[in-house]
Amino acid sequence: MNDDYVAGLRTRLGLPGIIDIHTHFMPEPVMRKVWDYFDSAGPLIGRAWPIEYRDEEQVRLKTLRGFGVRAFTSMVYPHKPDMAAWLNSWTADFAARTPDCLHTATFYPEPGAGEYVRAALDGGTRVFKVHVQVGQFDPGDPLLDEVWGLIQEAGVPVVIHCGSGPTPGKFTGPGPIRALLRRFPRLRLIIAHLGAPEYTEFLDIAAEHDAVLLDTTMNFTDFFESADPFPASEYPRLRDFGDRILFGSDFPNIPYPYGHALHALERLNLGDDWLRRVCHDNAARVFGLGQPSPHPGKTSPVSSD
Ligand SMILES: [Zn+2]
Repeated sequence: MNDDYVAGLRTRLGLPGIIDIHTHFMPEPVMRKVWDYFDSAGPLIGRAWPIEYRDEEQVRLKTLRGFGVRAFTSMVYPHKPDMAAWLNSWTADFAARTPDCLHTATFYPEPGAGEYVRAALDGGTRVFKVHVQVGQFDPGDPLLDEVWGLIQEAGVPVVIHCGSGPTPGKFTGPGPIRALLRRFPRLRLIIAHLGAPEYTEFLDIAAEHDAVLLDTTMNFTDFFESADPFPASEYPRLRDFGDRILFGSDFPNIPYPYGHALHALERLNLGDDWLRRVCHDNAARVFGLGQPSPHPGKTSPVSSD
């Protein structure tokens, strides 16, 4: 799947752009460590994972915009204490110099988390990223009570990697998320990777909680299907949740060309309307990105509307 495929898909669907809610931009030394980890196929990954878009930051931005991506995120995630506030200061700066990036922030269960999350919200954060597998913490940790309360009140979405793929962690799976939503039922969680491999359980959670959304990051690609195949029995629910599923890619840390992730959605045969909503309209609504640009194919900066 090459760039022409992506441009052709956008034209055919009449998309003003793609909104990719799951992309990684982070401080260079951190990105390099992440890439080293993928290269080593470490225990949290469990398989060879050759990264396709290992370029310098400005090149990566150009590549992403070249696909017609209108808005994207800069997902960072701490794996230890005393890291999140620093990452958040980097992402705030990145968003300030990258107008098409949705200002992203993160947190970790630690004293002071409430303070820096409040500061992130005051600073205009549009989305949070939480990685339960890499962070190895219970999302219900009491040190996060204030954080979840603030985020629920603000109504800001949280992309959360909480499924047990690619390898399980101590706190991954649907249980801790159910417990969290019992306490904070209005949280706008976006379940990353459709909750892989616990697809059915996370779709159940979405069915029970109207505010819960899901992202398609890496789902349905050949790479992902070979390890954690999405069950055919759940295709009807993919259609039913057509207003609550958002496209994400994991760019740049993917072992295949970007277009393959979009083609993987197209070949589900859920229809052009479904694709339009998943690749653009749902995220435009959730993030208040306003009216699409009238010039298909051109990227337009994220406005502050
Ligand atoms: Zn990711």
